[in-house]
Amino acid sequence: MAAPQDSKVWIEGRVVDGEEARISVFDHGLLYGDGVFEGMRIYGGGIFRLADHLRRFESGMRALGLELPGGTAHVEAVVLETARAAERTEGYIRLLATRGCGALGVDPTTCEDPQLLCIVTGVTLYPEEKLASGIDMVTASLRRPAADSVDPAIKSLNYLNNVLAKREARLRGADEALLLNAQGAVAEASVANLFVVRDEGLLTPPVSDGALPGITRASILTIAERLGISGRECSLGRQDLFAADEVFLTGSGARIVPVARFDGVEIGASGWGPLTRRLSEAFSEFVVEHSTPLS
Ligand code: PMP
Repeated sequence: MAAPQDSKVWIEGRVVDGEEARISVFDHGLLYGDGVFEGMRIYGGGIFRLADHLRRFESGMRALGLELPGGTAHVEAVVLETARAAERTEGYIRLLATRGCGALGVDPTTCEDPQLLCIVTGVTLYPEEKLASGIDMVTASLRRPAADSVDPAIKSLNYLNNVLAKREARLRGADEALLLNAQGAVAEASVANLFVVRDEGLLTPPVSDGALPGITRASILTIAERLGISGRECSLGRQDLFAADEVFLTGSGARIVPVARFDGVEIGASGWGPLTRRLSEAFSEFVVEHSTPLS
């Protein structure tokens, strides 16, 4: 991830350099994880599927009862202004809405002014050599929470479950964590969706098993359909990964990342299998078609 000095941040009505951006210690986003976020990519000088990201951001805000003056049009204008100021043809956008400052207590009604923040920076989720060879993933002992707690489909600022799953994977010498739901079905990785390739078709866990309705995930399913590759949602267990021909992860940060090893076992193609490669190449064309140009 790029250092703050390589970032531009929209905060309190203006764009500043990353190291200048400051928020209050009384912001409930910091105190209680009370807020939502969105991660987007700039590819080839355009923002990939901006409208879809804004829609997911808005639905998260509605779930928290957060309202920003100016609504979606304002949020969109802020994203575009920050991205233009950053002058990046490739980059990462982190959009956040926090509850804002309030009393030291969880009560959100003490917060009067929700804060909108937008960070534009570079992104490197895994080192280049890992992207080339495929990553090592282990099953985390923490489970993906069910929708009867805070619905995991909300990209809330409370990502501790994901953070601790990732920490466990790193402590165990792996790159990434696989999260199962309480029933033992595969949900996703720490911040990426998962696909299994079997018999030349694609399978991905349904949102009801704890998968985030990922925008990259949806794009891959659309691309597969265009290429005449079968792709569908299906409940998966750990055994489906051991039996897979290929396994890969998708996400705005991750893009498409092959999984080479799972729980200490080499997976089928062990890295870039033929279908993962084909989809990744097609994805590069797809992003151009679905991006909002910045100039
Ligand atoms: N799962 C989680 C928990 C995530 O935070 C993300 C990143 N937004 C994803 C999956 C991938 O979603 P997307 O393709 O929309 O970035």
